[in-house]
Amino acid sequence: MNLDDKIIENFRTVESQRKALGRLKIETIQDLLYHFPTRYGDKYDVVRIKNLQPKSGATVYGRIKKIDLKKTYKSRVAISEATIEDDTGKIKAIWFNQPYIAKMFQKDDLVSLTGEIGETKSKTLTINNPKIEKVESIQVGSSDSLFNTEDNDFLSPVYKESKGITSNWIYYTIQKIIKSDLFEKLEEPIPENILEKYNLPKLKTALIWIHSPKKERDALSARKRFAFEEIFYIQLKKQIQRQQAKSLDSYIIDDAGDSIKDFLSRFPFDLTESQQKAVDTILEDIQTPEPMSRLLEGDVGSGKTVVSAAAVYAVTKTSPKDHKFGRLQTAYMVPTEILAKQHFENFIKYFENTGVQIGLMTGSGCYKFPSKVSPTEATKISRAQLLKWIESGDIPILIGTHSLIQKTVKFKNLALVIIDEQHRFGTEQRKKLAQKEDFAPHLLSMTATPIPRTLALTIYGDLDLSIIDQMPLGRKPVITDIVLKNERDETYEKIRKEIKNGRQAYVICPRIDEPDPDKQNTLNVKSVKTEVKYLQEKIFPELKIGMIHGKMKPVEKDSIMKEFEDGGIDILVSTSVIEVGVNVPNSTMIIIEGAERFGLAQLHQLRGRVIRSNHQAYCYIFTESNTQKTIDRLQALKTSKNGFELSEHDLQLRGSGELAGNKQWGISDIGMEAIKNIKMVEAAREESNKLITKEFKKKNPLKNFPTLKKKLESKRDIHFE
Ligand code: ADP
Ligand code: MG
Repeated sequence: MNLDDKIIENFRTVESQRKALGRLKIETIQDLLYHFPTRYGDKYDVVRIKNLQPKSGATVYGRIKKIDLKKTYKSRVAISEATIEDDTGKIKAIWFNQPYIAKMFQKDDLVSLTGEIGETKSKTLTINNPKIEKVESIQVGSSDSLFNTEDNDFLSPVYKESKGITSNWIYYTIQKIIKSDLFEKLEEPIPENILEKYNLPKLKTALIWIHSPKKERDALSARKRFAFEEIFYIQLKKQIQRQQAKSLDSYIIDDAGDSIKDFLSRFPFDLTESQQKAVDTILEDIQTPEPMSRLLEGDVGSGKTVVSAAAVYAVTKTSPKDHKFGRLQTAYMVPTEILAKQHFENFIKYFENTGVQIGLMTGSGCYKFPSKVSPTEATKISRAQLLKWIESGDIPILIGTHSLIQKTVKFKNLALVIIDEQHRFGTEQRKKLAQKEDFAPHLLSMTATPIPRTLALTIYGDLDLSIIDQMPLGRKPVITDIVLKNERDETYEKIRKEIKNGRQAYVICPRIDEPDPDKQNTLNVKSVKTEVKYLQEKIFPELKIGMIHGKMKPVEKDSIMKEFEDGGIDILVSTSVIEVGVNVPNSTMIIIEGAERFGLAQLHQLRGRVIRSNHQAYCYIFTESNTQKTIDRLQALKTSKNGFELSEHDLQLRGSGELAGNKQWGISDIGMEAIKNIKMVEAAREESNKLITKEFKKKNPLKNFPTLKKKLESKRDIHFE
């Protein structure tokens, strides 16, 4: 048996169990060992059989007098049945659907049973589905709760189950693995000095402690180790990627000095201090041959675009090596067509009269600026033509969606890759833009997803961080209100008034279509299509109401967005597609319907749509739910000053398993426990940093840490050259 072996090849299973294992995402022995208990069941006193009370929990020590495998008469369910006795009496133990029990234990085995005591009609004592353990000797004593000392506690682990696989099955199977010779051979991946320094148990000990702890303290200590371990591995992985990226070459961008100042003076505002700092750091980064890997993190509306534009400008001012003419190129990737279009239009303004050509490539069409006939306008061109100009290096700036990473898109001198709203793209997609073997463009990722610092340090361990933590001058915080069902009319009136003053509004609904009346839980969820009708007919007959959603054709979306930007639409009803980066400064109000269905981070992003100008903005959180928990959570939106504060709040407020998006980052529940603990994250980061910096100076990194090396290689994304 090996860690990577499939469970089903080592343990006999039936179809329903295999399906359940699939649902639980347990495939290998290792997966099972890392399927940790969600909690530990009650601790019971050790009670002698004659003193057992029906309907109470207890632990009983005894000898197996008889054990058999049976089937229920009607439903043919397998039953393991045993009679256990001590010197005071006997009790019948029954396990449903767990035939393996009858095979694992034999007559005369000494065991402990833990579970709920029952009684049959004929007053026979029973214990159903108890946890059973082999013991060395039967403890005899004069008092009933003799063994209720800390040393004898047995914490009964409770595992996440799925129909077909019980918590008990998981427990016993894990116990078998722990008793096998595989377990004997298990090697410790974490360097010993690190375990010692942080007082963490070794792998074997930790596995025993987490799956069958005798003391609560041991269970906690084991959890701590596994939490540390997970963050440590992620950090190592990221540090390795970082070292590998650093070893590649990149274009050296000229120091554009004063011309950058000229360029920035094209904008109708001064940069905030944190924007300026970000610009300076980025320009410094790209003036070295080591590729930049930087993440620019800033709340929605904090002004990341202008920062990125400064970098683009510096790149286009630089000529390729050995060429006087021509310019280095930038690929600017954004997650949606709407956003690509918007960036294209903005960049046209930024680069007007500089002689710089700009291309736009999306699934629905390609454009180039300027057109032959007009120096201020763009023109539609064929994809083939655009590709040609990118490959020849004539067009230095290419803006687009995912379409930029297709193989057909070839750059002549790609020096900079900018990825907007980077959380929307996978690492693989990002890498695809870095085309050549030992050469990498500088990378600037941008995100408005504010995440807790501990999480950022972990998942962005391969990137340098620049943070914009200031809003442009004069921005007023959005006034946020939680609106219960009976207060809606009042809100609609406020909105009507603001629209009369010339403002516009968004209404966000969780669904596109009419809810399916057969599905109970979707009944109350508003849909874009019905809401448009409702608002138009019942609430705002005098206003122009439009809608936009993901199922519309790109051209339709474009024309709706254009109309909204031009003020032709007063209220835009939408799904969360507008979540990402859309910029219509005159739209100062947003209603979010069914807010309880969105995560706090997402709500914050949506709210960000309306802090785009100096008008007072409003966010109305409509909720159908009025449970205290929901209201408390939504209330945090009102009180948090910025997205970072909000994310910290979310982290502490919610159970680790619930934290929005931990699935997205691939961190397990136990790893999220570490994320709550800044000290642990910093320790994991520091240790991995030390190790990798030292090891990467060697020819064969991690040679002296073979188990660790193997462990890391088994995780995706890692290649040791
Ligand atoms: P985000 O960080 O969400 O991408 P944008 O770059 O779209 O934000 O900027 C939001 C709005 O703020 C834009 O209209 C932009 O022109 C404006 N803006 C950016 N920086 C400043 C500033 N320093 N002062 C005033 N307005 C600014
Ligand atoms: Mg943006």
